[in-house]
Amino acid sequence: MYKFALLSKSQYALLSKSLSAVRSPLAGLLRFQSNSTRVKLRKSSFPCRTLTQTLCLRTNTQTSSSDYHTQSEQREMKYVLVTGGVVSGLGKGVTASSIGVVLKACGLRVTSIKIDPYLNTDAGTMSPFEHGEVFVLDDGGEVDLDLGNYERFLDVTLTKDNNITTGKIFQFVIEKERKGDYLGKTVQVVPHITDAIKDWIESVAVIPVDGKEGPADVCVIELGGTVGDIESMPFIEALRQLSFSVGQDNFCLVHVSLIPVIGVVGEQKTKPTQHSVRELRALGLTPHLLACRSAQPLLENVKEKLSQFCHVPASNILNIHDVPNIWHIPLLLRNQNAHDAILKQLNLLSIAMPPALKDWTMMAETYDNLTNSVRIAMVGKYVGLTDSYLSVVKALLHACIACSVKPSIDWIAASDLEEDSAKLTPEAHAAAWETLKNAACVLVPGGFGDRGVRGMILAAKYARENNIPYLGICLGMQIAVIEFARSVLSLERADSNEFNANTPDPVVIFMPEGSRTHMGSTMRLGSRRTLFHTTNCITAKLYGNPQYVEERHRHRYEVNPEVIEVLEENGLKFVGKDETGKRMEILELPSHPFYVGVQFHPEFKSRPRRPSALFLGFILAATGKLEAHLKGHQNGI
Ligand code: GLN
Repeated sequence: MYKFALLSKSQYALLSKSLSAVRSPLAGLLRFQSNSTRVKLRKSSFPCRTLTQTLCLRTNTQTSSSDYHTQSEQREMKYVLVTGGVVSGLGKGVTASSIGVVLKACGLRVTSIKIDPYLNTDAGTMSPFEHGEVFVLDDGGEVDLDLGNYERFLDVTLTKDNNITTGKIFQFVIEKERKGDYLGKTVQVVPHITDAIKDWIESVAVIPVDGKEGPADVCVIELGGTVGDIESMPFIEALRQLSFSVGQDNFCLVHVSLIPVIGVVGEQKTKPTQHSVRELRALGLTPHLLACRSAQPLLENVKEKLSQFCHVPASNILNIHDVPNIWHIPLLLRNQNAHDAILKQLNLLSIAMPPALKDWTMMAETYDNLTNSVRIAMVGKYVGLTDSYLSVVKALLHACIACSVKPSIDWIAASDLEEDSAKLTPEAHAAAWETLKNAACVLVPGGFGDRGVRGMILAAKYARENNIPYLGICLGMQIAVIEFARSVLSLERADSNEFNANTPDPVVIFMPEGSRTHMGSTMRLGSRRTLFHTTNCITAKLYGNPQYVEERHRHRYEVNPEVIEVLEENGLKFVGKDETGKRMEILELPSHPFYVGVQFHPEFKSRPRRPSALFLGFILAATGKLEAHLKGHQNGI
């Protein structure tokens, strides 16, 4: 059905230009397929312009212009769709990523797509109070935190197009309508929105995300929300059509549902699941597997009942009961042979291996058996909802496991540390200070707006003056600069322009390239390079003395280049800068055991068995092991 041609970038540009010039219908059929210069000619039209641009950018130009040949068709993409029923917050994201882990452990290459049926174009403008953390990707995409789960679990690097929202789809279709691309037709949810969704999914599924050439074997798609929501209807319909067009061997639906228990020693109830499966079937989708969330393991008769009433074989009914930590979930799925059921449905049994999950087992068990803990004070603004700092929490966990300690995170609402709170809420104020003083280290994570800033400054001062390890991330770095300027340089009114536009001593200023009128996607976002200006600093050593590191960013303000000299003269060192040398990226206080601030967010690239170097250093410092570690590093141990 498909033909492939290898083209150089310029050939591609020429071909697409000439096809559009002659108004050939083929123009719309051209698309890039991966990070190679392979072009795929297919029947339906290309889904979205942003995606075209993304893929074009990702295209390399290594292929010589004489390189033009066709290839035979490769393996078809297999889709695993994960939907949710009954209630939200069932851990659909963790289930979907765990399915990916098990399939990957079977030797398959896995990618993922998260569908968020909300109208926001991306998560960039959403409040962490309401929606949890905004996860940032290498390409600058500001996406749902579930993408972070996928990156961590599958060890992949996703693109912003792997997060589909209603906003993105409508924007694309409406733009096309304005251009006149629909040739006078009435533009409708079916087929135009649904076609755009299908095309988007099929195009994104083939983008390689694991650093290897060519598309993955399986794409796990998580549909956010609960089946039956008005917002998810166009997606359900598109996915129904997709399941039909890709064929039953290429589509597997896993429905995540809840089995509640009524009363203390009550019965496990199947009715809500029955209803949600009925709802799904009424919309034309039949689940092949059920993943039932419950507190306790499912009883055998409950499984049989579910099988009978939901039309799913008992062997395909998985139970995800409560476990001590989320790394047990892939093991739980493997123990119930979820991989066999999925691979059978996808006709992949012959090419898959038995799942190798030794690392996961070790990690899950190591964590369960940790006895010592380290107290980490997290001084932030959004401490009411721990999901607001999900990646920071995960990065701490990864680092703690590497140091064989359990993280004990003490959440401190920064505003409780402030003097005002001593008058208004004295108990909360006293408790916050006691918690801070009992902690082994202090972390001030990223944030926006001025709430709690004074409390953060007090926490940074306390850590600096008492030699307590301090890690300041993004806002946390800016806080360290303001605190230093106020306390050490005696610039009492030093501030960031974000909190005080009229400060006489703006030590943190708005970046020239930012936009003051548009909030969405206008920050300095994504992976940027930081060059080390010395090897004689903790951070360079922790990273293993590279010339530069690439970490992800999300900020509008930066340290004022005009105050660097005076800050450095007084002991605060900027050991990492961007490629221009003008933008400060890493600060350290050499007179302190571990006082580090970074303008980037190292938490986004931390992985379970590859903790972020900075988080590792922070925990090592908190547990008194940093020096030995750095010496070992120096001696090549
Ligand atoms: N609000 C600060 C800025 O925009 C810090 C951002 C952050 O912590 N992510 O620069």
